[in-house]
Amino acid sequence: MKISFTEATVKKQKPDWEHLKFGELFTDHMFLMDYKTGKGWHDARIVPYGNLTLSPASMVFHYGQEMFEGLKAYRSANGEDVLLFRPEKNIERMNNTNERLCIPHVDPDDVLEAIKTLVNIDRDWVPPVADASLYIRPFIFATDPHLGVRPADEYLFCIILSPVGAYYKEGINPVKILIENDYVRAVKGGIGFAKAGGNYAASLKGQEKAYELGYSQVLWLDGVHRKYVDEVGTMNVFFKIDGEVITPALEGSILPGVTRASAIEMLRSWGYKVTERKISVDEIFEAHKAGKLDEAFGTGTAAVISPIGLFAKDDEKIVVSEGKIGETAQKLYDTLTGIQWGRLPDTFGWTIKV
Ligand SMILES: *Cc1c(COP(=O)(O)O)cnc(C)c1O
Repeated sequence: MKISFTEATVKKQKPDWEHLKFGELFTDHMFLMDYKTGKGWHDARIVPYGNLTLSPASMVFHYGQEMFEGLKAYRSANGEDVLLFRPEKNIERMNNTNERLCIPHVDPDDVLEAIKTLVNIDRDWVPPVADASLYIRPFIFATDPHLGVRPADEYLFCIILSPVGAYYKEGINPVKILIENDYVRAVKGGIGFAKAGGNYAASLKGQEKAYELGYSQVLWLDGVHRKYVDEVGTMNVFFKIDGEVITPALEGSILPGVTRASAIEMLRSWGYKVTERKISVDEIFEAHKAGKLDEAFGTGTAAVISPIGLFAKDDEKIVVSEGKIGETAQKLYDTLTGIQWGRLPDTFGWTIKV
């Protein structure tokens, strides 16, 4: 793929690396590529980061045809290399999302080339401090100026980069979770397995309610029975019961996380029994009563591993592993982040150099 490059004439000042937050700053450049039916993807370009101009009739504003991805670039322990963690998994998922949303597929090799080229150009923006990283956000949306409902004929593919700070600045503190009975995030047959802005819009109300009641995230239940666990906040969820690790099976309403897949592989390589199946809230509360709920944690690119210290359902509350991080979650966190930042040998072959 030919990518043209227009360099920013004025470069932004680099931030204070020690005090980065999440998603507030953007680098000097961005990647753009257009699509038009009959012409395909064309005009791949890296240009100065800046505003886009769109028709108010652009279809994305009316019918929400939009998808995104999220991955990170890590400055390796030697300070020189920049690493990506399993980017091919994100790219594969991109096309699964595109398929569901009637967005044209992208060429996986071209996307990887686009990511690598852009990260390389803005390489000085990969934070040189421990546990910080450069968040990579590819996204595609419908741009046709048209008000009739149909899949669009024109799209824009963008990649933007944002330096982000360490997720856990004061050590890993387990989170308190509200089990949500009223709102659902997704149902089988819908778009829950796709990484689309629409799923996030559907989740905001439940998330707000949880905040107001003093919880940090929502445990989403299946939309049909309101009984089985789907996800926690914007993460996949794992439970360790009586030594066995259980995570909900991917049956359409759950986002297939790269961190989830990596955690499963890693746990199995350590000899853990890992089962992907339906798990109900009743089963979790009963396991707790029997003293068998050892651990619960979420997985996702942003936090990597997020231990859960408490679940609340109506008036009932249960505390998990004494409100502390459990040994399995800690080992997963240390190993995954060790591989991502090049501090540990990459025995799985998961990282690639930019
Ligand atoms: C992105 C995402 C995840 C986590 O996926 P990773 O690939 O591990 O980052 C989990 N749930 C939802 C709803 C997501 O959007």
